[in-house]
Amino acid sequence: MTAHRLDGAALAADLRGRVAAEVARLGTAGIRPGLAVVLVGDDPASAVYVGSKKRQTVEVGMRSIDHVLPASTSEDDLLDLVRTLNGDPEVDGILVQLPLPPHIDSARVLVAIDPDKDVDGFHPVNAGRLATGMAGLVPCTPQGCVRLAKAALPDLAGLEAVVLGRSNIVGKPVAQLLLAESCTVTVAHSRTRDLPAVCRRADILIAAVGRPEMVRGDWIKPGAVVIDVGINRVPDPAGGKGRLVGDVLFAEASQVAAAITPVPGGVGPMTIACLLANTLQAACARRGLPAPGI
Ligand code: NDP
Repeated sequence: MTAHRLDGAALAADLRGRVAAEVARLGTAGIRPGLAVVLVGDDPASAVYVGSKKRQTVEVGMRSIDHVLPASTSEDDLLDLVRTLNGDPEVDGILVQLPLPPHIDSARVLVAIDPDKDVDGFHPVNAGRLATGMAGLVPCTPQGCVRLAKAALPDLAGLEAVVLGRSNIVGKPVAQLLLAESCTVTVAHSRTRDLPAVCRRADILIAAVGRPEMVRGDWIKPGAVVIDVGINRVPDPAGGKGRLVGDVLFAEASQVAAAITPVPGGVGPMTIACLLANTLQAACARRGLPAPGI
């Protein structure tokens, strides 16, 4: 079997298009959602990522409000900025790009963000809302994983889902989302016994371990849907700065699975599209408007 390749770039473009249509509709009522992005320091990867976020925010018709601060910024000054953005009526979403410089406590900064503007969905209030089934802002990468899985299998109810990885930003929230879809969910991690056997149970396998090509073809149940979150840079025999691979050995897994996301071009592009969807959702919720059906 050769798996269907789940095209995250195309699904992300479709989602951005639907966000843009809703933003245009809000525009007729004089509303323009705003996303504030805070970058501290000069980490090159963060700068590239923030650049993409800003560009795509503007492309869907939203306001991008940028705060680029030096690496020497104190934690108190950053907290002051977050509080200012919390109170700014022009700002619907706040994103503080991680990692922050080592002298700043990221957890303190993230909990200072107004949960209703927390478009990354990392605030404990939003984690609690997700765990208890309340409406809230759902972390972007996990949301993208489930959107991709539903592109392959629109009804996930009753399916066996295995999530490989239990981080707060990917593994745990993706498990909560799959539970909300009525999957039977297993969360595996570094202490799980017989990982291949656990993975072989999965109708839906989400791999988020950060281990290059760890999941082999014989870990996959024939006909499964495989969502590969991993982004790992490995040396390229041809030289240069290496190549990106996922947590799944694509060449093998794609011979067994029914559908699989590539790396790059799978989960990655969905993350920013879901960030824009969250900003739109926050903008509507803050004004008492119904949640956009995107
Ligand atoms: P973390 O390092 O925070 O978590 C990794 C998880 O994998 C942990 O729960 C760990 O278990 C588990 N794990 C590690 N090694 C093994 C192993 N050998 N066997 C079983 N489980 C293992 O990573 P993240 O969740 O932040 O990210 C995971 C991957 O997803 C990374 O490659 C990252 O780059 C990528 N990523 C991609 C995004 C995107 O936009 N596409 C966004 C975010 C992340 P334990 O808890 O027991 O230590």
